Amino acid sequence: MTQHTGRTSVLVVEDEQDIAGLIKHTLERSGELRVETVASGDAALKAVQEETPDLVILDINLPVLSGIEVCRILRSRPNTAHVPIIMLTARGTESDRVTGLDVGADDYITKPFSLRELGARVRAVIRRGRQQSGGTTPAPAVFQGRHLKADFDAVSISVDGESVRLTRREFELLRYLVENRNRVVSRDRLLERVWGYDQVIETRSVDVHIGRLRGKLKAAGTQIETLVGLGYRFVE
Ligand code: CA
Repeated sequence: MTQHTGRTSVLVVEDEQDIAGLIKHTLERSGELRVETVASGDAALKAVQEETPDLVILDINLPVLSGIEVCRILRSRPNTAHVPIIMLTARGTESDRVTGLDVGADDYITKPFSLRELGARVRAVIRRGRQQSGGTTPAPAVFQGRHLKADFDAVSISVDGESVRLTRREFELLRYLVENRNRVVSRDRLLERVWGYDQVIETRSVDVHIGRLRGKLKAAGTQIETLVGLGYRFVE
């Protein structure tokens, strides 16, 4: 990662030249980001081998190798497994979004998108990446929301001042949802992060655990939204 030595590097994979150019122009304006653009999936794979970027913005609809394939390959390689990926999807294709999240994209943006929204999403993903890699701005261990107070270090959870007892799994589930609040998290992502790859468990179990967690969290439980076909989101 180059973020500690210089500007944060972003790789944009987009075959539509004018869109790629606009993204590059928008992101480089702040002076904090360095953007490289490539027009195909195989060019993207070559580029990340030469230099691991801090973030990849990946169009799904690419010639030859689709963005989904590229994402899957990046996730399967140790040096790019944790590089944040934002997918660009066409409007109204829910299956693209689901697949994108399923293969490990961190976020997605639906085309046509506003450049302001893109900038905000990029900053959010980079910030989260820094927090997870233990950079200069570690995630605060105590979360205080409208109803929920969660001290993740002390393993102490309360809702409207009343302490709540959670199982280890429910605690980890809540922690992941809160850390990723206001973002959609797919069931597969929850399985991977909360249960781990080695566990053989059905996605249905995620729903069961979410159900129990909602019940225990009372008022804060209503802040866990179900997005049909996509996953869950903790809204605060
Ligand atoms: Ca395209």
